[in-house]
Amino acid sequence: MNKKKIDFIVYLLGFILVFALIVYAGKFYTIGKFIMGVEYKTFDIRQNIILPHKKNNNDIIIIAVDDPSYEYIVEKFGTWPVPRGFWAKLINGLEVANPKFIAFDLLFTKRLDALEKGDLELVQAVKNNQNVYLSMNFDNYPPEIRKPPELPDDLKINLKNDNLIKNSPLISFTNCRNAMDELLDVTSNFGFINVTRDDDGIIRYIAPLFYYKNNYYPNLTMLIALNYLSINPNEILVKNNKLILDNNHQIPLNPDGRAIVNWYGKEGTFEHISLWEVDDAINSNNLKFLKDKFENKIIYIGTTVTALADIKSTPVSFMYPGVETHATFLNNILDNNFITHLSFKSDLIISAILCFLIGFCILRINSVLYSVISSIVIVLAYLAITVIAMDFFNIWLGIVLPVLSATLIFIAAYILKYLLKSKDYEHTYKLAVTDGLTEMYNHRYFQEQMIMNVQNVSRYGGCFSLILIDIDFFKKFNDKHGHQSGDAVLRQVAQTIKKNIRTSDIPCRYGGEEMSVILTNTAKADALTVANKVWSAVRERKFELADGNWANVTISVGVASMPDNGVNPQELIEYADKCLYKSKQNGRDQVVGEID
Ligand code: GH3
Ligand code: MG
Ligand code: MG
Repeated sequence: MNKKKIDFIVYLLGFILVFALIVYAGKFYTIGKFIMGVEYKTFDIRQNIILPHKKNNNDIIIIAVDDPSYEYIVEKFGTWPVPRGFWAKLINGLEVANPKFIAFDLLFTKRLDALEKGDLELVQAVKNNQNVYLSMNFDNYPPEIRKPPELPDDLKINLKNDNLIKNSPLISFTNCRNAMDELLDVTSNFGFINVTRDDDGIIRYIAPLFYYKNNYYPNLTMLIALNYLSINPNEILVKNNKLILDNNHQIPLNPDGRAIVNWYGKEGTFEHISLWEVDDAINSNNLKFLKDKFENKIIYIGTTVTALADIKSTPVSFMYPGVETHATFLNNILDNNFITHLSFKSDLIISAILCFLIGFCILRINSVLYSVISSIVIVLAYLAITVIAMDFFNIWLGIVLPVLSATLIFIAAYILKYLLKSKDYEHTYKLAVTDGLTEMYNHRYFQEQMIMNVQNVSRYGGCFSLILIDIDFFKKFNDKHGHQSGDAVLRQVAQTIKKNIRTSDIPCRYGGEEMSVILTNTAKADALTVANKVWSAVRERKFELADGNWANVTISVGVASMPDNGVNPQELIEYADKCLYKSKQNGRDQVVGEID
């Protein structure tokens, strides 16, 4: 297998390991929550980036109980909530302008004392105008505080195929803050106005349906949308993670039964008209104003006044009126303009692709600068794709998991790359200092080590020794058995030497059939012992020849030590060489450590 293939396999294994770790980590609650929290922020940023491309429906109008209107009411009536006759007059006044819907994002809850005149006026106004929509709110108060009320049958929605969302705690409630019975008697135009905040307090999702006492009930805005689109509420169904209203209107749902709100702009994007202005127009019979503003419009009436605290944080603004959230949701339904959040599985696939591209760049591009730049370009390109996907295709592509895994892969790939490089370097270095035939250190390394050992002993004291080994009558051996057998013997002698020395000793091929061993921190006596051990080991073994036969060789050995026999490499080599010469003179096949 070539080196590139090995690189690639190592890289792939590393990749799989890192990736598996991320997925595993993603399963932990806190990390998963953290990832989701940051993902939400990326959603908010994307929503803000694409706002300029969005256009809201101008038929949706808000009558705002804003700060001046609140002041106006308190001034006029001395109290908030205002007596209900005020709202009756508002409904009747607005109806003159012929609006499509009048929806109250205000609660007309049950009163404990007897009905007042104003209450009756409101009941009458609602009864007379079937385009008026009222709201209620679910909660989970214990029955000791409020007995959970039975809601009239005509408020329910018989949802087909409901298994997806039934058990979601975010849409299912145990109690309800219901309206005056007298109102419930005259209209079934009641919707619910619960909203849920994410952990950071921001509203990103809204539930189109709620579950209470084994029945589904519509969100106020859902109810208005169904009537606006002439859809029978009992024909809607949940299929493929979507709430299907009709062929053209489908709301993608989270597994928790909520839909993502797709924002059109900061507060005030939907036209706000102050309640006091409307009241003033009604009082002064200003029909032109009323017709101009409200004819054929869908009117939401709600508070935006800070004192009444119906101000919510949303991705596009931290001070967003609750009532405008309803308007936004309605606009989403009417335009079928919902965002789909791709599943965790898609995030994993995207992460894998990003990781692959980045890993590939780093391992294949040699220049550090270019590989870093291309990794950054890949991530930036992906971020751009996520914005485009949200802007043009209403798709929420995950950012945190893919970018996090890309970053980890970036780091892992660099570590891998340098591990491979250093392995490469080690390999080259080893080649540079090794003799190919005997796999002993080569002459250059021998010289370096001699210098180092001499320096060490000169500086710190102590000793070291040098053994020189020369095979006897090797020329004749070659002549007799052939050069190939000579090579085989050289290799086997080298092995025998290595076997009989310590790992701290340095065996080298000095040249030709001469070999040497540098023995660090070794005095003459010990060096002689090692030399004798090697000499007898060679003497006692048989060497296999190229033709399969076996033969003996002997060696002559010379030993020199620092500081006894010299204080620099030349002197020591010369001394050992002289010992070797003496051994040859004395009949070879022996160890010599002294010259005369
Ligand atoms: P002496 O006992 O005096 O050392 O005799 P010798 O023949 O070993 O000495 P000499 O230095 O004259 O010859 C060394 C021979 O070693 C020469 C050459 O044929 C052989 N030789 C040197 N290097 C190699 C090698 O790499 N492979 C083989 N097969 N033989 C080698
Ligand atoms: Mg020789
Ligand atoms: Mg020789």
